[in-house]
Amino acid sequence: MPVDSLVNQVNSEFDFAQVRDVYLQGNDLAQRFAALRAGESFCIGETKFASGLNFLSAWLLFEHVAPQGASLDFFSIENTPSTHAELAISQWPELRVQANALQTNWLRRVPGWNRWSFAGGRVRLTLIMSDVVAALPQLSASCVDAWFLDISVLEKSHDKEGVNVCENIIRASRVGATLAMPSNTPQLAEQLQQAGFEVELLQDAEPQQKMLRGSLNQRVSSRANSMPRSALLIGAGIAGCAAAYALAQRGIRVTLVDRAPQLASGASGNSRGILHARFGAGDNPLHRFVLAAYGHVLGLLDAVLAVDGVLRSECGLLQLACKEVESKRIARLAQQDWPAHVLQFVDAGQASRRAGMAMRYGGLWFPAGGWVIPASLCEALVDNELITQRLGHEIDELEKVGATWRVSGHDAQGETWDADADIVVVCCAHAAKQLAQFTHFPLIPVRGQITELSETMASKTMQSVVCGDGYCAPAVNGVHVMGATHAFDDKSIEVREADHAENLAKLAEYAPALFQSLNSCDTAGRHSREGGNLVENTNPRSGQSVDSDALRVDSLTNWIPAFAGMTQEVTGRASIRCSAPSSMPLVGLVQQGLYCSLAHGTRGLLTAGISGEILAAQICGELPPLPINILAELNPLARIRNKS
Ligand SMILES: Cc1cc2nc3c(=O)[nH]c(=O)nc-3n(C[C@H](O)[C@H](O)[C@H](O)COP(=O)(O)OP(=O)(O)OC[C@H]3O[C@@H](n4cnc5c(N)ncnc54)[C@H](O)[C@@H]3O)c2cc1C
Repeated sequence: MPVDSLVNQVNSEFDFAQVRDVYLQGNDLAQRFAALRAGESFCIGETKFASGLNFLSAWLLFEHVAPQGASLDFFSIENTPSTHAELAISQWPELRVQANALQTNWLRRVPGWNRWSFAGGRVRLTLIMSDVVAALPQLSASCVDAWFLDISVLEKSHDKEGVNVCENIIRASRVGATLAMPSNTPQLAEQLQQAGFEVELLQDAEPQQKMLRGSLNQRVSSRANSMPRSALLIGAGIAGCAAAYALAQRGIRVTLVDRAPQLASGASGNSRGILHARFGAGDNPLHRFVLAAYGHVLGLLDAVLAVDGVLRSECGLLQLACKEVESKRIARLAQQDWPAHVLQFVDAGQASRRAGMAMRYGGLWFPAGGWVIPASLCEALVDNELITQRLGHEIDELEKVGATWRVSGHDAQGETWDADADIVVVCCAHAAKQLAQFTHFPLIPVRGQITELSETMASKTMQSVVCGDGYCAPAVNGVHVMGATHAFDDKSIEVREADHAENLAKLAEYAPALFQSLNSCDTAGRHSREGGNLVENTNPRSGQSVDSDALRVDSLTNWIPAFAGMTQEVTGRASIRCSAPSSMPLVGLVQQGLYCSLAHGTRGLLTAGISGEILAAQICGELPPLPINILAELNPLARIRNKS
């Protein structure tokens, strides 16, 4: 029978019982899941996601038989994802809980790599929206324990590229890996045998259950249980809190240390931050990373911080084509198909309707974009009994002592202290350079300031975040937030009038009607014209930042004559970002037992979550959430070697 019709037959006739008989039993998953120990992860690789039935079935079995503390990684490759409605849902009541969770995340999927966690982190899905031939070489080596193969993938081994399919399956397999697929075609068995699998054709099976199974080597896979029991994280900004969350999900005890007396006191302490996924077309690793980070953070936010319009809003975000370079980027993106839930292309009229006020430019519309209060996100991430906060403690030194790490420092009273942990993760932004192991890291401090301005009756109609050469968010509690300035190698945290003026002047360029709406005597927000008092700081976060006293906006008339005569108040906050030359963060192993998540630059809210997941996967020897070409760009050791 030609391969095509075989595939069709399998796809149309495959059901829950057959998934169980072919894939689950064919790989002996019940026994292998049950034999796992706490701290171990088992990885299944699949070459066609289709309705997600195989994933959901494996998840259900895992929950029933695997011991507490073990986790399941399931990755699947799919070039043409099913619609929301096509996902395996209520057809199988046994799977309803799992299917509902998958459906929720489905609306967060982005082209490329997606990583979602389920069941409190016990089950992870890495969904790769890509061609299988392109995706397989990007898997990390030696990570897969069992394969759910689809006939169509092996069909590709008939051509030149197809040879790589089998080679890449072998490369990604752990010793002892098994495979199963619905087929009894001798040619397929031969191909897999040539690649190195010992293969068995089950000839006597029912016609609809004919299958092929194999194993790479009967020796039991060597699963060194390398998971650390304790971790000490330095820095309780968004990078440290996200890493703490990912480690605690794996059952690791975390001590989170910060020199400031509260979480999110550095760059992560702004009153609001936006989810700004700015990426281009093509295969640029930075852009692919930003896209994957965006998909990931939406799922992470759904898990820890509900959309409530107070701590988090999914009001949508516009990226305006306000400059030639932006118009060109958007035109290149328009040459690709994008799921409407990720981004849409809008003209000025459509942009105006989404923004709730006149926009001079069209551009990109991100329906799931919005803003979040970073400190609230940090608090939600570390709300876990495995995470102990040690605030008001500054780390001065790290030292490897035998198999563990010792950190020493001082508290706010100047008392010295130290602590030991199996691993240390450094997340303290540019201050990392003060630690001996990081002095040579290419970390660049970049000062930035946000501006907060009262809502007016005219600006009240604003509905979404608007980005051009800066950003402005709709008002909450009567206050808009706009940002942000950039000053390289400037570590001053004073709030400057000139920076407020710069933020406002940029706004006047990319969204003139919005700027105009703010220049009104008709204030609706907390900075009322009558009040005249200095604004009480609603989000005072100390540390490496300064929240300003309120200025009257007419004090900016040296820079912006349009504000002459206005008594509205303007506040702001300055802090220091940490950047690195390629704009990619530095995430991963530095020395044995020492890791970092640094240089999140202008988009830490987007990139810290997936970076925590990368670290946790590396620390626990699990499947990484991203392809090897992106991981290579994030790798601190490679970056130090290449001085980038
Ligand atoms: C003005 C401005 C606006 C921004 N707007 C956005 C936005 O809208 N969206 C977005 O995604 N990103 C935005 N960013 C970027 C984002 O804020 C950063 O990328 C992110 O906060 C970095 O997080 P972090 O945890 O790496 O660093 P930080 O938040 O700076 O955290 C580092 C922590 O380490 C602690 N620390 C330092 N040294 C030590 C030590 N020796 N011992 C103990 N603790 C130590 C510090 O106290 C600090 O709490 C903005 C940045 C700025 C400055």
